[in-house]
Amino acid sequence: MSDRTQPQPQPGIMEIALYVSGESKLAGGGEALKLSANENPYGCSPAATAAFQAAAKDLNRYPATDHGPLRRAIGDIHGLDPDRIICGVGSDEVLQFVAQAYAGPGDEVITTRHGFAMYPILAHAVGATPVTVDEADRRIDVDAILRAVTERTRIVFLANPANPTGTMLSGEDLRRLIAGLPGDCVLVHDGAYMEFAQPDYRDADLVDAYPNVVMTRTFSKIHGLGGLRIGWGYAQRPIIDVLARLRQPFNLSNAQMAAAEAAMRDTEFTAHCAAENARLRRWLRNQLVQMGVACDESHANFVLARLPDAERARACDVALRDAGIIVRNVASYHLPEALRITVGDEAGCRRVIAAISEFMAGER
Ligand code: PMP
Repeated sequence: MSDRTQPQPQPGIMEIALYVSGESKLAGGGEALKLSANENPYGCSPAATAAFQAAAKDLNRYPATDHGPLRRAIGDIHGLDPDRIICGVGSDEVLQFVAQAYAGPGDEVITTRHGFAMYPILAHAVGATPVTVDEADRRIDVDAILRAVTERTRIVFLANPANPTGTMLSGEDLRRLIAGLPGDCVLVHDGAYMEFAQPDYRDADLVDAYPNVVMTRTFSKIHGLGGLRIGWGYAQRPIIDVLARLRQPFNLSNAQMAAAEAAMRDTEFTAHCAAENARLRRWLRNQLVQMGVACDESHANFVLARLPDAERARACDVALRDAGIIVRNVASYHLPEALRITVGDEAGCRRVIAAISEFMAGER
């Protein structure tokens, strides 16, 4: 009936630009080399697959609500207090808990110009206003963030290493940022790609030093479990006590927890993936630079290839697809001239370089 009013969403919901993930299929079908989602080219630890399969015998059972074994595994491997770890459905869910807990209508949430797309979505979802701060040459600008802080700022979200730029702030930069933030403003240090970096600081030390820092990590990248959706956060107890209240008791399934625990304990697999990534990332960047494609040093499991302009980036994207390779167009991250390329295995890296090289030759 036309005279009936419609249900109205909460403020902010309609401001959300729907998250668009990288494509995983070629338009014409066919097998693609997918280098668009920063997935692990080596799959996951065989121990994780076995644990996942073993969990299938208990599908009728509700999972444990406290994530005890998984939190202990994370604590053992990272040297952390398991009671200060919270696990979520991907690190996205942990980021969501922080947004729900600490920001609401009238509040501001700071993100940066090329920052991860989920941050403004999470801010809008709780009715807060995302404030986007400029970066300097694709690097997060600590001074610009501090200048943007107002008395309404509740959260600063940053990823280190950053996605999609791959750049990284030093421990000194981070300490300067935290020291300049009001004590009631939460700094979320999103370490989704931390295992691929060689940071000059330890994110858990920031958490231990400052009561307003939350660090997050994920099983989706180095552990190769993107399809299972598991992430975690670490903070001082008062914050964990708040976030725990927002977590649904059965947010993680038995299979998720079992696979994640096995993956965390397989440190050999993790080290192998990190070493191969570092080696091939260096090779990819050298190759790109040699053929005249600009590429900053990356600290993650992808590189950002910068073409001379947006048109050339689009053409290169099309050429790669024609060669059966899908990379990530990052125009929506205000980087229309760039393509983000996941560091694949050696064969994948060689294939993408051969295709870009052919494209560049055609440009000359
Ligand atoms: N943070 C950053 C910077 C990311 O790039 C991603 C994944 N794209 C995430 C968080 C979320 O990862 P997940 O939810 O799979 O843990």
